[in-house]
This record gives sequence, structure tokens and C-alpha cells, in this order.
Amino acid sequence: MATTSQVYRSTRSSDKETKTFEEVVIQGLAKDGGLFIPPTIPQVSQETLFSKWSKLSFQELAFEIMRLYIDSNEIPDADLKQLINRSYSTFRSTEVTPLVKNVTGNNENLHILELFHGPTYAFKDVALQFVGNLFEYFLQRTNASLPESEKKQITVVGATSGDTGSAAIYGLRGKKDVSVFILYPTGRISPIQEEQMTTVPDKNVQTLSVKGTFDNCQDIVKAIFADKDFNKRHNVGAVNSINWARILAQMTYYFYSYFKAIEGKDQSAVKVKFVVPSGNFGDILAGYFAKKMGLPVEKLVIATNENDILDRFLKSGDYERSDEVAATLSPAMDILISSNFERLLWYLARENLAGNDDLKAGEIVNGWFHELKSNGKFQVGQAVIDGALKDFASERVSDEETAATIKKIYEESVNPKKYVLDPHTAVGVCASKRLIAADNNASINYISLSTAHPAKFAEAVNNALSSFEGYSFEKDVLPEELKKLSTLPKKLKFIEKADIELVKAAIDEELAKMDL
Ligand SMILES: *Cc1c(COP(=O)(O)O)cnc(C)c1O
Repeated sequence: MATTSQVYRSTRSSDKETKTFEEVVIQGLAKDGGLFIPPTIPQVSQETLFSKWSKLSFQELAFEIMRLYIDSNEIPDADLKQLINRSYSTFRSTEVTPLVKNVTGNNENLHILELFHGPTYAFKDVALQFVGNLFEYFLQRTNASLPESEKKQITVVGATSGDTGSAAIYGLRGKKDVSVFILYPTGRISPIQEEQMTTVPDKNVQTLSVKGTFDNCQDIVKAIFADKDFNKRHNVGAVNSINWARILAQMTYYFYSYFKAIEGKDQSAVKVKFVVPSGNFGDILAGYFAKKMGLPVEKLVIATNENDILDRFLKSGDYERSDEVAATLSPAMDILISSNFERLLWYLARENLAGNDDLKAGEIVNGWFHELKSNGKFQVGQAVIDGALKDFASERVSDEETAATIKKIYEESVNPKKYVLDPHTAVGVCASKRLIAADNNASINYISLSTAHPAKFAEAVNNALSSFEGYSFEKDVLPEELKKLSTLPKKLKFIEKADIELVKAAIDEELAKMDL
């Protein structure tokens, strides 16, 4: 396939400066505070989709997609293939992201896309396994041409409330010239979450258990990023949800699952809707790119919990942050602002307000986010909402409905029987069920994304299911591999006060010991 020479720009810039893929991955966030995007979205013909791509393995498909976004001068074919194969060799399923078809027996065409077969049992592995290898690849290449004394190392620092730290750790463990420090609030994450993070023995990984709250941890990480001196010494980096490579890696499963869902059916006679449990909008944004590339998706449905900024936006055009985050049964979606949403806004502004002018789109988005900063909200107007509604719909799901959905699917499922949803997946499945009832159209297939294994959210799952006779978490839900974690030695450093100086001193001390 011919490669385009792909360049990237910031969602907020009104100048012509562009970046390469490598710069975008290593830098993460643009200097003007914006996010990196490819101004033109590569197009794939229906012919290529249905006579070629539909027959490919997950890895082969990943290669075809990524090739369109990464110039082959930056990563040659052979290297890109190797990066992809290495990244997905850690998954427990040969299909990487298998589709469980027709979970319920009611002719609903409800399919569950299992994204949790990676090392940490959650969907973020699909992206972070790849990003970890990419970091290492770029660093090694840069260092190969530098004298020993000037070799570059990256110190990744992050905070977690429990759900996402392990995916970053498993993505970066054992990687050359990269170290990773993850802060979490002592006693405020679940035992299984703590075990997943602290039992990784690689010397470049260190967890820091900080006496305080998640907000304390996050504030410390922000302060570390702002500390020029510390940054200069350690080259501090992040692998957070706005990194473009994460979005790119997530596109593959939209294509892959689409082809699985329509297998054996007349493609022109079926419609496909994706339903995506959303927080920072990274997962569903990958679906938007897939659709814009040419995958004939009918709708992308945003499913939110009670933290519903996205649902409110689609209904009113107001993008407005609440004062407080609501703590729900689906904590990985408990957000005030959806960081990746800015990328969609850029394309919407460009198409609907800027007459397809890149520079003007950047000015508009910049204006909106300045308003958000000073007033806590902005309003985009009807043209932009109408634009968004061509591709998206949204549903908000309460905790009660989430628990009821876990129960309902456990009772109703036939393929396999007694299927157990995690609470994030249940938010999506509840939204899917609503659509199935409202659409009442047997030609529509619903692909509901499953973002975590139920064992990771034991409390919510057990509360929903413990009243069923014969239900056992240990027997029916908990995988052997996770059971074993509690027997492994833990590696963590306790920080007895939420204080930036203590954390910096701990990182200094541990980095010296790591001797990378
Ligand atoms: C991160 C996460 C989500 C939300 O994904 P976004 O890309 O932030 O929208 C949903 N479920 C689980 C389990 C997650 O870890």
C-alpha cells in the first residue's frame, strides 16, 4: 500500500508548524496546550475494505492501518510489523480482541467486543503495550547515534486512582532507557489493583504508595512536570490518554470487530452501531477515525455514567464542567472533562465553521478552550451539534441501571451462559439495550465494547450477583493468573506524606539504584 507523508498539527495552533509521528509520540501534548492530529484522514476504498482488510488477522490489520498514519521513512515496514507483533504477543487471545457474538438469545444482534485479554485485563493494554514498545524503539534509535555520555533516558511519572496505573506499568516494564514511577493513594485502591502494580519485578518499575488522596497524587505529578530543574535532570515523560499513538492503536479493533460481526451476512443489508463506555473519549475517538477512513459505521454511541459532560454536550452544545466528580461503579469513567474530545471538536470546527481551513479551525478551538478555562464552559452552536450528531449519539446510565444490567445479562445470556459484565462494560450494554428497544430493527448489529474483565471490579460485580444461587466469584469470575498475584512479593515504596519534595527524593534515590 502506498504511504502518505503524514504530518501532524496541534488542535489549537493557528500557525503552519507541523510535526512528525515520532515528535508527536514523544512530546505527547503540543506546546500551545493542544492535542496532535493528522489534518487529513486517510481514505480506504470499500473495495480494499471488503476484499482485502476483511480477511486479515488483527496484527495484519493493525499494520495496514498504522502504515497510513506513520511515514515509512520514520518506521520501515519490517520494523512496524515487528513492533505490532511484539505488542500483541502478550495477549491471552490469539484474536487479540475477540468478538462474542449474540450474547443474548433474543435476536438482538448484541455482540460484545472483549478488549480485556491483555496483561492487565483492561482495554488500555491494547494501546499501551504498543506505546511502550514505540517509546523504546524511538529512544534506542536516537541513542544509537549519540555518545555514551549524552544518551537519552525517559522517566515516566504518573498518578493512578487504581484502574489505569497497571496498564502503564505493563506497557513499560523492562523497556530500555525508560523508567516508570506510578503514585497511588495508600489504602484507597483495591487489593487486586495494588497487587497488579506492585508485583512487577522489573528494575525499571517503581510504585510509590503515597499517604493521601488521588488528588494529592495528581497534584504532585503536575508539580513534578512543572519543575524545570527536575525535568532537565530526568527528562520526565507521560503516557497519558491524549497520546496520539494510543488513539492510533485503538483503531484496529473497530475494523476487526466490524468484519467479524458481519461475517456470512450481506454487507449492504446490515448496519453496525458501536456502543462505547466513555470517559476521556480516547476509545470512541478511534472509532471516529475508523468511520472517517471509510468503515461504514451507522453510529458511534457514547455511553457515559453519571459524569455525563459528553451526553450533555450532544444534547445542548454546551461543554461545561461540573464542580465535582461523582464517584460511580465505573470509576475509570469518572471524569470532569474528556481530554480527547478536543480532537473531535477540531474536526467539527473545521468542517462546520471554518470552511475546511486548518488554521481557522485551530483559532476557533483555541478560543473555546480559553473560554473553558476562564468560565468553566463554552457553547459551540447548532451547526457543530448537527455535525456531531451525524456520527454520534449518546446515552447516560445510572449506577442502579449499571448493576441491573450486570444482573440481566447474567440471567439472559446464552452464548456463553451466565456471562459476567464488569461495571464499565455494563454501562455500554445498558445503552445498547435501550437502542435495541428504540430502533426495533433486526438489520442493525450492536457491537458493545467491553473495557475490563469483571474480576477487576469485584465489589460491584459481587454486589450485583451474590444473590444468585450458585454464583461464586472465585470459581466463575477470578482468573487463575490474578489469583496467584496475592502470593507474589510486593515492591513498593511508602511515602509517608503527600509532599512533592519527598516524592522527588524517592525518585532520585530509586533512579540511582536502577542504574539503567
Ligand atoms: C479508561 C477506561 C474507560 C474509558 O475510556 P476513554 O478512552 O477514557 O473514554 C472505560 N472503561 C475502562 C475499564 C477504562 O479503563
